[in-house]
Amino acid sequence: MERFDAIVIGAGAAGMFCAALAGQAGCRVLLLDNGKKPGRKILMSGGGRCNFTNLYVEPAAYLSQNPHFCKSALARYTQWDFIDLVGKHGIAWHEKTLGQLFCDDSAQQIVDMLVAECEKGNVTQRLRSEVLSVTRDDQGYTLQLNGDSVQAAKLVIASGGLSMPGLGASPFGYKIAEQFGLKVLPTRAGLVPFTLHKPLLEQMQTLSGVSVPSVITAEDGTVFRENLLFTHRGLSGPAVLQISSYWQPGEFVSINLLPECDLANFLNEQREAHPNQSLKNTLAMQLPKRLVECLQQLGQIPDVSLRQLNSREQESLVELLTHWRVQPNGTEGYRTAEVTLGGVDTHELFSRTMEARNVPGLYFIGEVMDVTGWLGGYNFQWAWSSAWACAQALAE
Ligand SMILES: Cc1cc2nc3c(=O)[nH]c(=O)nc-3n(C[C@H](O)[C@H](O)[C@H](O)COP(=O)(O)OP(=O)(O)OC[C@H]3O[C@@H](n4cnc5c(N)ncnc54)[C@H](O)[C@@H]3O)c2cc1C
Repeated sequence: MERFDAIVIGAGAAGMFCAALAGQAGCRVLLLDNGKKPGRKILMSGGGRCNFTNLYVEPAAYLSQNPHFCKSALARYTQWDFIDLVGKHGIAWHEKTLGQLFCDDSAQQIVDMLVAECEKGNVTQRLRSEVLSVTRDDQGYTLQLNGDSVQAAKLVIASGGLSMPGLGASPFGYKIAEQFGLKVLPTRAGLVPFTLHKPLLEQMQTLSGVSVPSVITAEDGTVFRENLLFTHRGLSGPAVLQISSYWQPGEFVSINLLPECDLANFLNEQREAHPNQSLKNTLAMQLPKRLVECLQQLGQIPDVSLRQLNSREQESLVELLTHWRVQPNGTEGYRTAEVTLGGVDTHELFSRTMEARNVPGLYFIGEVMDVTGWLGGYNFQWAWSSAWACAQALAE
């Protein structure tokens, strides 16, 4: 049976980075994945350009039942460290918006960089590998694979969450955690579009593709200021993806469709200057025409001139456009979600090393654990930071 110092399960962002660093520190590392290619999610990410980190990474941008857990790793391996590595590999990048860093060229460059780092660490890679069983004794961990068995003193689970089963996602990491007695918190889809109840959806069919700046607020008070996109299934766009991680079934979200305009003031000024101008044309100066037309067809915008608009109608219009309350039907689920909320309870792990407190030699890194970042490069940064912390411990 072939023996290694460490086996890493999952050749995604966290697993590749951890294997590479541990290998470079002198460990004999085996990296396993069930897929044909490493880093499949990286290739899909950021519209093919991989939003690999964010300039404004901070612990407050992560959801977890144990919010302090992520602090140590994020402080020890920061966005600047990763930006430095990307620079060393000659990968050109740019900031798109809100500190989000993307490759100028292609996400393939990040995968190639991680492959090169693994090669530098002499990491043995086995793709298309099914792990049939994992057992532990005083020799360490023995893995039964499809074909043969392998053994290592240390085992790292980097198998990610449940989002996008088409890209190899599986509950493997949660099952291993439970097998070794670690608590797994309930999981749900995060950074995911909302679906809407049929009547509302039918009313808004004509809006599919319309995008507007918005401020969106969840019932717990969390607020995001980003674009909202109407789709043929419901609502999407960065504002909705962000707030979906803070939304629970049955709850409402409140949407301000005119965050950059004091609507009451604007209407009063326009009324002064052009009293005979139609309300519809006035609103179309601030909102997409298709949205205004749709709201008028739904009877939400009266077919009147500014002079005819009475103060009660104006108030309810301002309320509708700045505090639109929507109760989503649900989310599009793991099929399109970018991340999985919940997972391995971080109270079970040491935040410095990612090792299970009660199972020596067993580590969890990346998305498999209950640490989920905002949209915008935060999730990859968690993969890099947690992988780095774990790799230091493997090398000790
Ligand atoms: C479409 C999409 C776009 C995204 N864009 C961004 C972005 O631009 N920026 C950002 O920060 N985040 C983005 N994310 C989130 C980010 O991809 C993840 O948070 C990150 O990949 C998590 O890294 P990981 O290594 O923990 O897991 P993953 O990258 O998911 O890797 C897990 C690996 O484990 C393997 N695996 C699973 N089960 C088994 C098993 N039983 N046996 C063997 N191997 C197994 C999988 O095949 C996979 O290769 C995006 C996600 C998606 C789905």
